[in-house]
Amino acid sequence: MKPVFIVNAGSSSLKFSVIDIDSEQSFVSGLAENLGLNDARIEWEIEGVEFDSSFDETTQAVDIVNFIINEILPKVTTLTAPIMAVGHRVVHGGEEFSKPTIVTDEVIDKLKDVSILAPLHNPANINGLEAARNVFSDVPHVAVFDTAFHANMPKEAFLYGLPYHFYSEHKIRRYGFHGSSHSYMLEEAAKVLNKPTSEVNIISAHLGNGASIAAVKNGISVDTTMGMTPLDGLLMGTRSGNLDPSIIFYLQDQLGCNLKEVKDILNTKSGLLGISGVSSDCRKLLAAADKGNQRAQLALDMFAYWAAKYIAAYFIPLGRVDALVFTGGIGENSVPVRQNIMRLLKPLNLFIDNELNEQVSGKLGVFSSKESLIPAFVIPTNEELMIARHTARALKG
Ligand code: ADP
Repeated sequence: MKPVFIVNAGSSSLKFSVIDIDSEQSFVSGLAENLGLNDARIEWEIEGVEFDSSFDETTQAVDIVNFIINEILPKVTTLTAPIMAVGHRVVHGGEEFSKPTIVTDEVIDKLKDVSILAPLHNPANINGLEAARNVFSDVPHVAVFDTAFHANMPKEAFLYGLPYHFYSEHKIRRYGFHGSSHSYMLEEAAKVLNKPTSEVNIISAHLGNGASIAAVKNGISVDTTMGMTPLDGLLMGTRSGNLDPSIIFYLQDQLGCNLKEVKDILNTKSGLLGISGVSSDCRKLLAAADKGNQRAQLALDMFAYWAAKYIAAYFIPLGRVDALVFTGGIGENSVPVRQNIMRLLKPLNLFIDNELNEQVSGKLGVFSSKESLIPAFVIPTNEELMIARHTARALKG
């Protein structure tokens, strides 16, 4: 048994799990929320049994990690070996970090420099990293970056049409995100297709609250919908996705919005929520649309249309496509959203099997028909497991 502790630290939350690298089994998983607030709490699960505990507003990430070590892990009776390493999700690696990296003091300093590219996410990730290094001081820590899977995109895919020095001097470029999810889909698709990952071409669609699609050629991401930040690309729960930048000038000049307000509109008031006026939650939109709410239906139609448009576009860099893969809360679970996307892909000779589509929700399986040019699969994502795999591989060098 080689257990790895996985940490995904947000600004006021800390998600964790312990996964055995040998069996890929998860022993314990949990989430601490509202850290720094008076309703801070932690919930965890051991072998299907749920527990929770409350904290006061002074609680920090480091207290949570201590609580996990002292109160939770000793109660996991099936965990018979000590934690061998800690794997951390870090959102942005910039150009500096193109693969999972063993954390040293020098790496932390470089990560702080990269934080300028992801001010909403990286400082919280680093805070979690430092907290866990304090507590788990005698095991290696590995940073696994959301951006790293896309680090080998060609320049024509990652550059924006800006003066070149904005890239060369300021690193303004497309980076892409959801790397652990896209790489997990690649590895699982390779098993299903019975090929080495280095020979697999897929279009992977991570459709959740945040959503992105990647074109993966011979196991390497060659294009993806998210950009310098996770705001670009698909219509998302509350994020606008792809947008004419002039709209920002218009909001400022004509509607008097300041830049902070514009940022807030694009990140938290747009997407499915903004279009529908109902919710960012796909389930609520489906229910509202069923009852005849036209804006909820419009939001769902836009979501499917944009996803199908990018999927079609990614036939260009791939040439040969072995499979289309869906994951994320929506991609894994929503029968009608998969149906709507596949309906739009008929001109590419991609066809759905409605019966299989009903059966496949939440589990690995094919839902395209035999006549379809390529198979379409649901592969439930497991980002924690992928971080554990990357952590173990980084340690092996
Ligand atoms: P995040 O990006 O926050 O990790 P998730 O991948 O968990 O998001 O996806 C959340 C989205 O998945 C929500 O819009 C939710 O409504 C949707 N979802 C979850 N289950 C279903 C379902 N059975 N049918 C439709 N949508 C679902």
